[in-house]
Amino acid sequence: MVYTSLQSPHSKDYQFDLSIAHLYGNLMNTYGDNGNILMLKYVAEKLGARVTVDIVSLEDPFKADDYDLVFFGGGQDYEQAIVAKDLPSKKEAIAEFIDKDKVILAICGGFQLLGQYYIQANGEKIDGIGVMGHYTLNQNNNRYIGDIKIYNEEFDETYYGFENHQGRTFLSDDEKPLGKVVYGNGNNKEDGSEGVHYKNVFGSYFHGPILSRNANLAYHLVTTALKNKYGHDLTLPTYQDILSLEVAEEYLDVKSKAEFEK
Ligand code: GLN
Repeated sequence: MVYTSLQSPHSKDYQFDLSIAHLYGNLMNTYGDNGNILMLKYVAEKLGARVTVDIVSLEDPFKADDYDLVFFGGGQDYEQAIVAKDLPSKKEAIAEFIDKDKVILAICGGFQLLGQYYIQANGEKIDGIGVMGHYTLNQNNNRYIGDIKIYNEEFDETYYGFENHQGRTFLSDDEKPLGKVVYGNGNNKEDGSEGVHYKNVFGSYFHGPILSRNANLAYHLVTTALKNKYGHDLTLPTYQDILSLEVAEEYLDVKSKAEFEK
């Protein structure tokens, strides 16, 4: 898959390079999850980073040092079962990636498979790669589908999305949720948690895709990845500098801006 630039190729002198691995991007991509890649690319380019994206799929080698950021999308049970068989070959490198505080965004099926195990809708158990502590149970003839809003205390940020999953995920003691459910079901409809935040791994059940509805989270992921790579004292444009509505308005022509404001 080729992701073309959202910006004019003439508009930037890139200062940085950001290398993204899209894990099993040809199999795990429900509900437009690969829109997250477009959003990462958009934000990274605004921050002055040239982005390359590789799909790393079945039987492809994966080395932790080759990438700055990993995206792992959602999937149906069928694809998840196929991916689960290949994942052990990448376990060591994914564990190393996490240990080095590198950034991972994992959605739905991808989030489930980073954990201990996932029980499919039909009751069959699939092993996760167990690089994180959470596990996922099934539920009886039901799915959690609908709009969801969560609040992340640590970042003082609110995220919006659309969830669609049958799995019920339970976090381990060393994992924090991505946010507390304001409305919607979240990980399991019992404990008010949604998603996961562990080191620099962010997991969520949000589709939509999550980053196109939550540019604040996209900014956080990209700046964290760039600081990991180029040093923690790196000064980058602020969120307001690159993503606020006033800046966005610059790009709207007069007619569409008037429409927008109606
Ligand atoms: N198959 C998994 C579930 O239903 C994941 C779904 C998804 O990734 N959208 O829970």
